[in-house]
Parts: sequence; C-alpha cells; structure tokens
Amino acid sequence: MEGSAIRLQGLRKEFGGTTAVAGVDLEIGDGEFFSMLGPSGSGKTTVLRMIAGFESPSSGTIELAGQEVTGLAPFERDVHTVFQDYALFPHMTVEQNVAYGLKIRKVPKAERLQQARKALADVRLEGFGKRRPSQLSGGQRQRVALARALVGRPRLLLLDEPLGALDLKLREQMQIELKALQREVGITFVFVTHDQEEALTMSDRIAVFNQGRIEQVGSPAEIYERPATAFVASFVGTSNLLDGDTAQRVVGGPGTFSIRPEKIRVLKESALADEPEHSTVTGTVAEVVYLGDATRFLVDLDGGGRLTALQQNLETSSEDVAAYRGTRVRLQWNRRHTVQVPDAR
Ligand code: ATP
Repeated sequence: MEGSAIRLQGLRKEFGGTTAVAGVDLEIGDGEFFSMLGPSGSGKTTVLRMIAGFESPSSGTIELAGQEVTGLAPFERDVHTVFQDYALFPHMTVEQNVAYGLKIRKVPKAERLQQARKALADVRLEGFGKRRPSQLSGGQRQRVALARALVGRPRLLLLDEPLGALDLKLREQMQIELKALQREVGITFVFVTHDQEEALTMSDRIAVFNQGRIEQVGSPAEIYERPATAFVASFVGTSNLLDGDTAQRVVGGPGTFSIRPEKIRVLKESALADEPEHSTVTGTVAEVVYLGDATRFLVDLDGGGRLTALQQNLETSSEDVAAYRGTRVRLQWNRRHTVQVPDAR
C-alpha cells in the first residue's frame, strides 16, 4: 500500500489470563477513514490504545508512517486520541481548551489563538470560543474535543466511540459532519465503534473484529455485500443464513449462504416462479413489522428455515401490513445476491 499511516504486525495483548487481541495484522493508508467495528469485548479499543501508546503489546510491532513506534511513549507518537467522555477542562473557556496542547508545546500566544480559532471554525463553532464547556450542548462539546484534537494537525487521529454519548439524531448529524471534516483536513482517522450503521456510513474501509481477531477488512460495500464469514454476515446487517437441507433445496448447493433482506421480493404464492436467474421459495408470514418507510417480513419457509425480507412501502399502508400475517407468500431474489459464507455457525 502506498503511503501507509499504520502497519500492525502480529499484534497480541494478554491481560493476565485474558487474550484481548489474538494476533492482528493490518495496514491503514494515509488519509483513510478507517473503522474498527465489532461487538463489546472484541479487542478494538485495546488495539487503538496500543496504537496510541497507552498499552504496550504482549508481542508484535506497530509502525506509524513507516517508523516503528512499538516501545515509544504516547507523547513520542504523532497521534491524538479522542475519547467518548470528551475530557474537557471545565474551568477553561472553549478557546483555552482547544489551545491547551499548543501552550504545553510553548507555541506563542498570538499563534495559539489563531490556530484555536481556525480549529473551531473547522468544526463550525466560530463565536463559541469564550464560553465554558458547561454552557454547550453535548454535540458542541464533542466538537470542541475534536477541535482540540485537530489543532496540532496530527497525522493521525484515533477516535474511540466519540459519538456514543450523543442521541440518535445528533449522532447521525455528527457522522456526516465528521466524515466531511476528515475529507477536508486529510488526516487519517481510525474510528472505533460497535455500531455497524455508523461504520458503514462513515468509513473508506472497515475491519470487523471478533474475539480479538479481524474477520474481514474491506469497503462498506464489500463487507455488506460480500461478507467473508458467517460472523460478519450476522454482525453487519441481517444475515439470513441458509444452510443444510434448506440451502440444498433453495440455493441448490451444499454450504452456508447469506441473502440480505432488501434483496428479497415478497410476492403472492401464485406468482410465476420460472425466471431462471432467480431463486424462489414459498412459505408463511410468521411476523410482519411496519417500520414507516419499509416493512419487515419474517417468513417460515416450507420445509424448514426462516428468512427476513424488507420491502419499501411504495404503495403499502400500515393497514395493509397487518393483513399479511399468516398468509402464504413466495419469496424471490436474483441468484447473484446469494453469497456463500465459508464457516457455518
Ligand atoms: P467495547 O466495545 O466494550 O469497548 P472492545 O472491543 O473495545 O469492547 P476491549 O476493550 O479491547 O474490547 O477488550 C477486549 C478484552 O480485553 C475484553 O475481554 C476485556 O475485558 C479485556 N480487557 C481490556 N482491558 C483490560 C484490562 N486493562 N485488564 C484486563 N482485561 C482487559
């Protein structure tokens, strides 16, 4: 990879008897928005802390911009970390908070102020410099923490669930803003989250963690459309796994297959089923959930297995939806949307 920002090789971390990180190899490119996604306890924060230098690996090496930094202290690395709990100084103004790191580095006052104002403008908080953190909303405080991280223009910004404390609306807004900001300033972002939608929305690439290992690295589309393992298929989106006899009957092959809900059309049972490029299966609607913009169908397949199908509510109203429960339907999808996943779980 050209211009590598981070290279991890054989990275492991044990805490007493617990293996938090069980051998991670990873390369992150310069200027990438890279997410580490995984369930709680899968090791992503520990990897981030090792990159920052807050935790030292049990074995393996860490390179930043081509330089090995494995044994260096945090302040000897050109990185900045933004945590979920902001950690702003309550007795300082917003401007002083943002300029603090520059003061430590003995940057002259006039220049500090100018840089702090520029960083506040980057996060669209012009005019808030004289306030105290307590006079800001949660989202504004989060942006101050970001401005503080951006002010020294580090090559690399590490973000550990920085939007976790925000309500859903604000989080969605900040996801878009953060992505735009990253594109603008061109800093490499490494973003830890357990929220798959957040990772899909923001990232150039995603690493999916499970039990201290990376199961797949890829673009959001690759992760979603071509999950490499059953774990990835079920953690990112609804997996809709078909295996055993059901797979044999519906897909026509041995193995485990995944088919995403929005690829499946829900038709009347009597609908024609002779399109060669389509897979088709009949069943009974066990449950139907009206979601406003779409409807989710849970269908028990004839001969075993269950699939979830998601339909946009183009013509359907909430009254129509309830009437589907218990009815017979045919599910149909284009074969190219059926993905074989290697390990059945
Ligand atoms: P979360 O999303 O909950 O933050 P995570 O994927 O970031 O989870 P880590 O925080 O990296 O997971 O933890 C991985 C494993 O290592 C967990 O089993 C955790 O209990 C363990 N662990 C992490 N830090 C320590 C520590 N300081 N001492 C002992 N065990 C630890």
